[in-house]
Amino acid sequence: MSKIGYLIDMDGVIYRENHLIPGAREFVAALQATGVPFLFLTNNSAPTQEDLAVRLNHLGIPGISPRQFYTSALNTADFLGETHPGCTVFVIGEGGLQTALHERRIANDAIRPSYVVVGEGSASMERLAKAHECLERGARLLATNPDNWCPVGAEKTRPGAGATAAFLEASSGRRAYYLGKPNGYMFHRARQKLHELARGPLSQVAMIGDTMETDIRGAVEAGLYGYLVLTGSTQLENLVDYVYQPTRVLQSVADLTEEIRSGVDSDRMNSPVFAGTGPATARSGGRHQTDVLAFHKPRPRPAMTK
Ligand SMILES: [Mg+2]
Repeated sequence: MSKIGYLIDMDGVIYRENHLIPGAREFVAALQATGVPFLFLTNNSAPTQEDLAVRLNHLGIPGISPRQFYTSALNTADFLGETHPGCTVFVIGEGGLQTALHERRIANDAIRPSYVVVGEGSASMERLAKAHECLERGARLLATNPDNWCPVGAEKTRPGAGATAAFLEASSGRRAYYLGKPNGYMFHRARQKLHELARGPLSQVAMIGDTMETDIRGAVEAGLYGYLVLTGSTQLENLVDYVYQPTRVLQSVADLTEEIRSGVDSDRMNSPVFAGTGPATARSGGRHQTDVLAFHKPRPRPAMTK
């Protein structure tokens, strides 16, 4: 039997706000009981791995080790630690990002940093002005993830790290480099971590997520299976907007629980939600969660005055 491991997005897949998605608890319990390797993969750079383990425990999913989370903050720290040892940073971000950088001995520097690093969380105008000055002095701009906005409820969103980075791109004329999903470095490192957690080789890795631009695009480009769940930011009728498509479309992670318990892989690489209708054909329009499709567009520095 082929051995599969899972990379699992959290928001919109396991929970929304402070509520577990129905069936998520049983899905994770089935993974734990059968020893199928899995790693939670999130673009949220605000929490630490420990914070996320506590959060899942409070929501009713106990027994997850902090090692089973990989965030865009860890990805950013891994990237800098590998590509530029000894660099310094000016950070706009929360505890998860600060901790990840600190653990890799990357120093804070508000005078002449190598990078301005932008993550999720509050960005005061004072902090943004300071970051702008650092960029003018030659710092490079790095964002933990490209999400312009993030869901905080069924009807509510908040600005994401992509929006903060866009502010600094506009003010400085510098282009940001975005880590986190769908960047290949995020998937490269996550797959490495998953192989460390697995006992023995994996024949395939599936990314389970609710966002086409990050989870599914990243999976397709990294050569992984991409399983889209419809419990988060994407509706079935949105699929027609995308060149890349998921390997499977699932109503929720609950659709996978039985095949994980039985150990029998599904031979159905397409979801019953497609049955009879094929992928949606209606134009949906609407805004997408990131600008990744528009990264090639130049964003010239605007004139200082009219
Ligand atoms: Mg999500």
